[in-house]
Amino acid sequence: MQDRKATLESLKTELLARVQRYEDHQHRINGALDKDLDEQALEVHNDEVVAKLEDEAEEELAQIERALARIDARVGDRCEECGNTITSGRLEALPYTTHCRDCADL
Ligand SMILES: [Zn+2]
Repeated sequence: MQDRKATLESLKTELLARVQRYEDHQHRINGALDKDLDEQALEVHNDEVVAKLEDEAEEELAQIERALARIDARVGDRCEECGNTITSGRLEALPYTTHCRDCADL
């Protein structure tokens, strides 16, 4: 369980950095092009697409926060929906999930 938490923490750090880059891009959209932007953002050149990517990253971030809170509450391997145990294989593949396979498919 400690490993999963460490994985989530590093995912969270990564996402926070990504959101920050998107924000920087949004704020400089009318100014000089930032040479530090990653290639993906350079190709995008479209604030709507960047805004969408930012939304997705923020959604993922919220999901990671939820999973971390559940780990802290010692219910990290319990499904949020039905209370069943989430299999370790599933948690390994999707460390941020808070649903068992059955409930996630609904
Ligand atoms: Zn479930």
